[in-house]
Amino acid sequence: MDHTKINLLVRLQHLDNQIENIISLQKGLPEEINALEEDLAFTGRQIEARKKVAEDHLKLRQRLNETISDCRGKIKSFKEKQTLARNNKEYDALSKQIEYEEKEIAQAEIQLQDIAHAEQRSLEIQQKGRQLIDENRYDEMTEDMMPDDVLQQQLEDLNRQVDQKKEELESIVVETADEVEDLNRKIDEQREIIEKEAKRLLDKYDHLRSGIIHNAVVKLNRNACSGCNTRVPTNRHTMIVQGGFYLCESCGRIVVHERLFEEAEQ
Ligand SMILES: [Zn+2]
Repeated sequence: MDHTKINLLVRLQHLDNQIENIISLQKGLPEEINALEEDLAFTGRQIEARKKVAEDHLKLRQRLNETISDCRGKIKSFKEKQTLARNNKEYDALSKQIEYEEKEIAQAEIQLQDIAHAEQRSLEIQQKGRQLIDENRYDEMTEDMMPDDVLQQQLEDLNRQVDQKKEELESIVVETADEVEDLNRKIDEQREIIEKEAKRLLDKYDHLRSGIIHNAVVKLNRNACSGCNTRVPTNRHTMIVQGGFYLCESCGRIVVHERLFEEAEQ
């Protein structure tokens, strides 16, 4: 058997592995960035929702206070008119109007109390959340337990992380651009050589890699194919040790001695 042919193929696998290592390094980051951006959007929405509630409360409170102040003004004027009432009928009519305004005030005050209670409740829930954070009991936290300042801090942290990861990715792309180009050039050259010297091996290699398998050529590891861990028959070991290859009966990968990969690196 001509062992140099398999050496050529191992060299190709080594180069393809290097490219894949670089790509996988980049691949991880976009996914990480996506996940962070989702968290960021979620946190942003939480903060916006809380802001909206606070604004609504403020507006409602202002409107209710205006109502109360209007009603009080009216009551004052009705009371003044009562002192000038010419008869009981006129006086009673004014009393009824005063009563009506007083009811309006009472209703507005109830609503003001409701707002105050809601705000108090949300503060208490956040206090509970702060306590859980202090005790590292994050799994017991609910969304509304997250204190406002912690949520804001989370938003800032996430923003910073996204920026950092984006910079990291950009620098990897820039840093590895030359290396990727160089590797691609070497791969093209290597393929050209194998095309001439061992076309059938290259076809086998490409066929294996056309599916989900990237490592078409693998090392013999503990007397097994390191691609699928199936044991390699003992009578094939000698050939592998001598620098030949074995086609795994289980996964079809090309199994070689690890020495060949060490040689391919040089
Ligand atoms: Zn296998």
